Amino acid sequence: MPRPILARIDQNALEHNFQIARRATSARIMAVIKANGYGHGLLRVAQALSGADGFALLDIRDAIALRQAGYRQTILLLEGFFGVEELEQVAEYDLACVIHSEWQIRCLDAYPRRATLDIWLKVNSGMHRLGFSPLDVAMAMEVLRSHRAVREITLMTHFANADDERGVSAQFETYNRIAANYRVTRSLANSAALLRYPETHGDWVRPGLMLYGASPFSEVSAAQLGLKPAMTLKSRIIAIQHLERGDEVGYSGKYRADRTMRIGIVACGYADGYPRHAKNGAPVLVDGNRTQLLGRVSMDMLCVDLTALHEADTESTVTLWGKEMPIEEVAMAADTISYELMCALTQRVPIVEDTP
Ligand SMILES: *Cc1c(COP(=O)(O)O)cnc(C)c1O
Repeated sequence: MPRPILARIDQNALEHNFQIARRATSARIMAVIKANGYGHGLLRVAQALSGADGFALLDIRDAIALRQAGYRQTILLLEGFFGVEELEQVAEYDLACVIHSEWQIRCLDAYPRRATLDIWLKVNSGMHRLGFSPLDVAMAMEVLRSHRAVREITLMTHFANADDERGVSAQFETYNRIAANYRVTRSLANSAALLRYPETHGDWVRPGLMLYGASPFSEVSAAQLGLKPAMTLKSRIIAIQHLERGDEVGYSGKYRADRTMRIGIVACGYADGYPRHAKNGAPVLVDGNRTQLLGRVSMDMLCVDLTALHEADTESTVTLWGKEMPIEEVAMAADTISYELMCALTQRVPIVEDTP
């Protein structure tokens, strides 16, 4: 019997969430599957989302793996290439590239003569991370439009606040002012903008998080959006402890019993990807019943309160997040976001398919 932790991935949920995106837009859908499909497994996710018009990721090795698996859609490298030595493979596997900096444009002179590539020219419309400033876009556009290596140009930008009350208006305005000068394909929307700002959909939307069944908004749940969590992280209770008033739990005594208690030790810790910064009281399900985390999460274990769960015992099933236990709530209790929890799942956690 292996250690009982595992992540179940529900392919039907991925497909379901993709259909929600489909119904929300008439734009083409670039499914964002960076970071190993947000921790769900690159090829597993690509298969469930094979109806997507394109896939976006960062690592050229992953892009090549997708091509080799037979995907014919657009495959976009979200940070483009990192040096001229990658251009041979970009050409061989026909990968679309984000161009965000002038040095990348200079690299294109070394692009293999036998091929051309699709460029996603990135505009910094206010996030100040990647992209040409509004003043520099014209120069970049001029060079790229007449460049022998360039096939189609998509003008893209990325929103910093589509998920919160600041919204997209300032960035959207900046982008529109630039885009009005060109007849190009347009791409702006991440999950939050796809769901909340239809006017930003353009020609290509780029959802990531929503496809995995989590909500990009802090005040709207995934269920309210009709999304189904694709990843469920499960483990088991492997030991029971009885506490007297005043007993401390785990490292540094971060929890001290204020009464007689019964607690369960769960085979899941930060080396599995459960956040060490989760606070006392973070929600956990035991046999489907809600209870709470007690004390500090250690490398391989965490503790939960079983005082009120009389049926719970060793071998009880524990759900850390996923179906019935929204990952957003766990993220909130750890001062982080669901994106980080999904990606943080570690190598040692077996991933199994969960298709009922
Ligand atoms: C990660 C990423 C996305 C997807 O964002 P979500 O919030 O997960 O939908 C879209 N566009 C770019 C450029 C990204 O880096």
